[in-house]
Amino acid sequence: MNPSLAGTPPLGLYVHVPFCRRKCAYCDFYSVTHLERRGAYLKALSREIGLRQAPGRAVDTVFFGGGTPSLLTPRQVEAVLADLAGGFAMSPLAEITLEANPGTVDGRRLAGYRRAGVNRLSLGVQSFHDGRLAWLGRLHDRTQALAGVRAARAAGFHNLGLDLIYGLPGQGIDDWRADLDTALCLEPAHLSCYLLTYEDATPLGQARRAGRVRPLSDRAAAELFDFTHAYLESRGWPAYELSNFAARLEDRSRHNLKYWTLAPYLGLGPGAHSFEAPERWWNDACLEAYLEASRAGRLPAGGRETLAAGQQMLEAVFLGLRLSAGFDLAGFEARFGVAFATVFGTVAQALEGEGLLAAAGGRCCLTPRGRRYHDAVSARFAEVL
Ligand code: SF4
Repeated sequence: MNPSLAGTPPLGLYVHVPFCRRKCAYCDFYSVTHLERRGAYLKALSREIGLRQAPGRAVDTVFFGGGTPSLLTPRQVEAVLADLAGGFAMSPLAEITLEANPGTVDGRRLAGYRRAGVNRLSLGVQSFHDGRLAWLGRLHDRTQALAGVRAARAAGFHNLGLDLIYGLPGQGIDDWRADLDTALCLEPAHLSCYLLTYEDATPLGQARRAGRVRPLSDRAAAELFDFTHAYLESRGWPAYELSNFAARLEDRSRHNLKYWTLAPYLGLGPGAHSFEAPERWWNDACLEAYLEASRAGRLPAGGRETLAAGQQMLEAVFLGLRLSAGFDLAGFEARFGVAFATVFGTVAQALEGEGLLAAAGGRCCLTPRGRRYHDAVSARFAEVL
C-alpha cells in the first residue's frame, strides 16, 4: 500500500448504470432506454475508471445502481469489477451490491452475478400487488417479483434486500401491511420502504399537477410512515435509517451508511456523485456527454464544490439524523473542532423540548415522533448558520 494513504478511510465506489427498458412513472433517476448504447457506455466506464484510479486506495464497498444494472450481463459486471480491482485496493471482504429489476433477471443471470463477485442483491420489487405495479409503470408483476426472490436465493444470495414503495393514492394501512407481510415471509436480509414522492419532471408529477392523480393527504402519508416503523419494529425489524430496516445490524447496507456518515465515496458513470470532505463533485447526467468526454480522453466532469465548514456541519446533522442511532457528539467535535452544543445548542434544546430530538449517551438523534419531521427539523438547524 502507498504509505501516503495510510490512515485514509476506505472508499465506497458507486457505479451508475444509466439504462432502463422503460421509464417508471415516478422515477427521476437519470437513465435512458437506448439499450444499444451499453457497449459504448462500458468502454467509457472502463476509461473513466482508468482516469480516476487510485492504486493503493482501499475500497470496501461497491454499489451498482441505476438505472437498471441487471441489464448488464454477468460477464460485463465481472469486467467492470476487474477494472475496479485493477485501479483500487479492493478489500477481499468488500460488500458488492447490484440493484436488479425482477423483470430483467432469471436464475442463470443471477447465478452469473454471484460468480462474478456480487455478494449483495437489492431487488426492486416495489409492490406485490399487480394493479399497483402497473400504476407505477413497473416492468414486472407479482409473479415475477416472487420468482426473482426465489431465483436470487437459489443463486446463493443470502444478503438479499427488497425495495418497496408505499403511500400510493388510496392505499390504506391494511393494503400496505399485506405487502410488508409478503416481504417478511420471504425472509430477506434488508428492507427499504420508500414513501412515494411526486417529482416534478416525472409523468406522475405532471399527472398530479394536472389534477389527474390525487395523492394521499400529508396526514394519511404520515400515518403510513409511522405505521411502517412501528409495525416492522414489532416484527423484529427496527429501522436503522428513515427508509431502511434490518433485523440484524450486520445486514445494514454498508455502502449506503457511507452516505449518511460523510464517509468518502467515488461515483462513476453518467450523473454519478462523489464526496470526500470538503469536496463534492459529479459527472454530467447525460450519456452522450459522458461518451464524448471519454472519446476526448477527459473526465466527464459535471461540477465540483468545496463545502465550507458550516455546510459540512449542517450535512453531518441532516444526514446523521436520518439514522436511528443519530450521530456521535464527540465525533462531531473531533471532526469540526467545535462542540455541537456551541453551534446548535439553542435550536437542539428547543427541538428536545418539542419532543422531536433526543441527546443522550453522547449521541443526538430524532425521537420516534421526530422521524416524520426530518425535513422540518433539518430546516430549523439550517436557520442557525
Ligand atoms: S425506478 Fe428503476 S427501473 Fe424504473 S425507471 Fe427508475 S431506475 Fe429505471
